Amino acid sequence: MVIAVASSSARRLSLRTLIFCVVGAITLVFVATIAASIAGRLSVSRAVDTLGDRLIPIRSQTYELSRAYVDQETGQRAFLLTGNPVALELYEAGAATADRLVGTLHRELADTPYANELLPLYEQELDAAAVWKSQAAPQITAIRGGSITRAQLDQMVLDAKTLFDKLRERFRALNIQIDVLIGAEIGHIRSVLRTANNSQYVAAALLAASILGCIITVRLKLTQPVSQLVRSVRAVADGHYDQPIGRGGPREIAEISAAVDDMRNRLREAAQFDSVTGLVNRAETMARFGTALQTHRSTSARLGVLYCDIDHFKQVNDTLGHAVGDAVLSTIAARMRECVHLEDTVGRIGGDELLILLPGISGTDEVIEIGERIRRRAAEPIHQFGLTIHTTLSIGATSSSPAGEDAPAVTARADAAMYRAKQAGRNTVVGIDP
Ligand code: GH3
Ligand code: MG
Repeated sequence: MVIAVASSSARRLSLRTLIFCVVGAITLVFVATIAASIAGRLSVSRAVDTLGDRLIPIRSQTYELSRAYVDQETGQRAFLLTGNPVALELYEAGAATADRLVGTLHRELADTPYANELLPLYEQELDAAAVWKSQAAPQITAIRGGSITRAQLDQMVLDAKTLFDKLRERFRALNIQIDVLIGAEIGHIRSVLRTANNSQYVAAALLAASILGCIITVRLKLTQPVSQLVRSVRAVADGHYDQPIGRGGPREIAEISAAVDDMRNRLREAAQFDSVTGLVNRAETMARFGTALQTHRSTSARLGVLYCDIDHFKQVNDTLGHAVGDAVLSTIAARMRECVHLEDTVGRIGGDELLILLPGISGTDEVIEIGERIRRRAAEPIHQFGLTIHTTLSIGATSSSPAGEDAPAVTARADAAMYRAKQAGRNTVVGIDP
């Protein structure tokens, strides 16, 4: 039984494990939230870096390069049409800007994470610009020479326009692609921020759920078993020994409950049993006496009572010692138990006074018969501590009245009968009818 209780409490969660689980659940949610937030921040920070340090500066440079091509084309065309050398200043300025930007832009495009997409477009733009320029420069030289017919001039303007339209297509394609990539990065930032917002709500909900779960777990596994234990301990302290102590809660509380239950059992035994003889004590005997009389009131059977007192017991104590006296008491008690049924009560109600309750008896004569059996058995020599002790009992016998009586009245009659047995020379059974 003890082993079963020990192993069942060993299988339970310990208080430490319970606290670890509770703290672990909250920590897990907290760590997951922090990890998601860090991942989101890193992703946004990468996207912002790509945008701020690369795509946006590149975008302004590609636009500047496009403007430089347009300036070149405007200056060149104006010179073709007017022959005014001032127009060439715009052409030269555009060419200078384009020359300054071409190399830098190539390096910067190669540095972006989108180099594979952007560099081919950029190179196509440069090729188209080279083709246009390879025709534009000789045209300027030809105009400067001054031997150009009107038809040749118109053809030049037309050819230049055709080539520049191709260049325009190329730089537009690059600019549009850069705009698309910027849009994608901004979209990514927005989506990460949306995810971060949502994950914050989810984290808050998870945290609330885990706190609620912790509160419920602590209530079920800790607070309720502790309150139950406190109530049980209070009841034991108030002398209620009959209710077994519950074993709920974590291992430590189950172990405390088991210890309190053992204490309760010991207290109940101490409250009901006599430690020298193992018989029920006076309080328990009288309680059973009252209950038995109640039971017999409604039946034709009667309750037999034997009031036994050891003869000259004081002498045993005085001559052989208290320990021998205790052993004699204990032996007499055991012999009495042997002589009666299991359901009969043998109780120690005083120093050397023992009361026997015999339910379902027909009358006092039957009680006297049982008393005689006990007297004879008690008179047999007792061998204890290497001694042989002879002791006898004076026994008063009676039975409950069919009219109904209380325990003190029946006890008083049995006591009177025992007194007569003493007066009759002891080692005798005397009966008194109700
Ligand atoms: P009597 O024949 O008239 O009954 O004489 P007695 O000596 O038995 O006198 P009485 O019944 O009055 O004395 C009871 C004695 O029982 C007194 C005490 O020394 C002894 N006694 C009471 N309780 C205990 C106990 O727990 N252990 C022992 N060893 N002796 C006890
Ligand atoms: Mg006595």
